Amino acid sequence: MSRPFNFSAGPAMLPELVLRRAMDEMLDWHGSGMCVAEMSHRGKEFMSIAERAEADLRDLLAIPANYKVLFLQGGASSQFAMIPMNLLGRGNGADYLNTGSWSKKAIAEAKRFGPVHVAATTEASRFTRAPAQDELALRDEAAYVHYTPNETIEGVEFPYVPEVGDKPLVADMSSTILSRPIEVARFGLIYAGAQKNIGPAGLTIVIVREDLIGSPIAGAPTMFDYRTHADNDSMYNTPPTYAWYLAGLVFAWLKDLGGLQAMAEINERKAAALYAAIDESGFYANPVDPSARSWMNVPFTLADPDLDATFLTEAKAAGLLTLKGHRSVGGMRASIYNAMPEEGVRALITFMQDFERRYG
Ligand code: PMP
Repeated sequence: MSRPFNFSAGPAMLPELVLRRAMDEMLDWHGSGMCVAEMSHRGKEFMSIAERAEADLRDLLAIPANYKVLFLQGGASSQFAMIPMNLLGRGNGADYLNTGSWSKKAIAEAKRFGPVHVAATTEASRFTRAPAQDELALRDEAAYVHYTPNETIEGVEFPYVPEVGDKPLVADMSSTILSRPIEVARFGLIYAGAQKNIGPAGLTIVIVREDLIGSPIAGAPTMFDYRTHADNDSMYNTPPTYAWYLAGLVFAWLKDLGGLQAMAEINERKAAALYAAIDESGFYANPVDPSARSWMNVPFTLADPDLDATFLTEAKAAGLLTLKGHRSVGGMRASIYNAMPEEGVRALITFMQDFERRYG
């Protein structure tokens, strides 16, 4: 029997093959007699798991040698503070692009540590578009430029990587990392909570250029200094070992699939099919400018919001889970991360068309 399709925004669906492999290895990882969750993080078994995961991630994203990959805890939300704590000293305040709910949170947190200049905002459009390059009012003296390539709640994704000159570009890739190839060298720092495209919650990945490490603000806690983790291979304290292991299984799954170019082609097809179904319906609507529609998070509304509850109940009965939209946006949201098979998107479209025929 196949499992239902889970459209949760995060923690999100994991590839079934990954879950099955974890199940097979649960009681005895590779003859060690231990579950990975029972292993010392400093033992040779876990060290081999950790190294393999990092090597596969480096391979998938073609991460240059002068970048550190850190496997941390605290979620992307901790990075909202850790980034200014470590990078603000490099200039006079930081430039932030305000393109949705998560940008706003990052901005609010950075303001606790120094001046923040909002270099562009799309709030007037209710965050339904991405700003164009020539709208970005960047300052020469900025310590760094922060943006959110994919806004998980509004479903807005930048169709380009901002050009920021020689300033470090910092990107919250929580809901888009590994969905397509990127050129890591364009970024000073990339961060992502794991619970969408990487693995289970509890792990946060930071990819940071080495020259940006090592000058935190005075009084920064040890755990909030990138140097602490970079110098100790993310094992200064106990890392989230089981989440790291599962992330490694996801990386291996992606490599088996053909890597990020192959994944991107699948993701593009999934998103195109779902947006086309919405646009052609006359019953469903997505407010985002077509040039900035997210491949990962697809919010949509029904022509009659009184039908929302019926839609959700019937969807669940049809094996389509967690389609309720974020409370701030309403309606529905289908998150179609890497682990969502094309078959799941097809099942959703078929259900939507059938629902429209019966209620539209
Ligand atoms: N940034 C983005 C783009 C997100 O989608 C989320 C979580 N939904 C966060 C930050 C916050 O992540 P965490 O819960 O890992 O702190």
